[in-house]
Amino acid sequence: MGATLGNPQNTIEILKKYNFSFQKKFGQNFLIDTHVLDKIIAAAEITKDDFVLEIGPGIGTMTQYLAESAGKVTAVEIDKSLIPVLEDTLKEYQNVTIINEDVLKLDLNDLVLKENGGRPIKVVANLPYYITTPIIMGLFEKHVPLESITVMVQKEVADRMQVGPGTKDYGALSLAVQYYAKPYIVANVPPNCFMPRPKVGSAVIRLTVHQEPPVHVEDEKLMFGIIRASFNQRRKTLANGLKNSAELNLSREVIAECIEELGKGPGIRGEALTLEEFAMLSNSIYHKIN
Ligand code: SAM
Repeated sequence: MGATLGNPQNTIEILKKYNFSFQKKFGQNFLIDTHVLDKIIAAAEITKDDFVLEIGPGIGTMTQYLAESAGKVTAVEIDKSLIPVLEDTLKEYQNVTIINEDVLKLDLNDLVLKENGGRPIKVVANLPYYITTPIIMGLFEKHVPLESITVMVQKEVADRMQVGPGTKDYGALSLAVQYYAKPYIVANVPPNCFMPRPKVGSAVIRLTVHQEPPVHVEDEKLMFGIIRASFNQRRKTLANGLKNSAELNLSREVIAECIEELGKGPGIRGEALTLEEFAMLSNSIYHKIN
């Protein structure tokens, strides 16, 4: 038997059978559209060789699709009231493991080591929107071995991940995502594809993880500190943003020299710099302070 959820009737039946009540605090909006599910699976390019980590399986709708195409699936769900539901909806699949945990508290490097011999995995999820950024940044910053991340997120967040300098959505998230991966928006998804309907539009984004970063950076932590400081005070100049950062603790002279070396004027703002320019700036600051 193939995947049976993903259509509104079967979803409602399961919810009734288990007398399930949605928990807002867990960002629960379940997918009820088979076309969207097919698109996510196709964009993730899953094969029987793949180990897939699903974050927040809900009642197991996408998990069924993943189990049919992947070699192994591990799904991490925080809500313990969903565990008996998942045991029921996934009982026919021998290649699925459910973990009842907060994904932010799990040691994912350890999981990849134990379950996939440390080889890169694919992450596929309809993410709980209240923790989209910590989940994605956690995967990148902890250097979890990854091939790709294909996820449903708030449309506005997908846009922020994909844009370059000179747009209002450009910021620390755009730069961090683009340092680690190549983003591609697969589809926009309207609220009526979910139960209950979210208040905002959604989008599926695929992040294909770079095997080598696209720019050379001497000290990643320093570069991301510089990026954060530059966007903390968007309307200030880059020089003032950097000067006001207690974390960086840089002198006005060092900042001015490095901005000049970059070939920019003193009035330049952080939001005008590309990833390459942030890398160059951070490398010249690194050499001045070390
Ligand atoms: N995958 C299901 C679907 O597409 O229908 C459900 C997606 S729903 C948007 C998000 C899911 O993530 C919910 O099942 C929620 O309980 C779960 N969740 C929320 N916070 C979590 C966390 N910190 N760790 C693991 N799962 C979480």
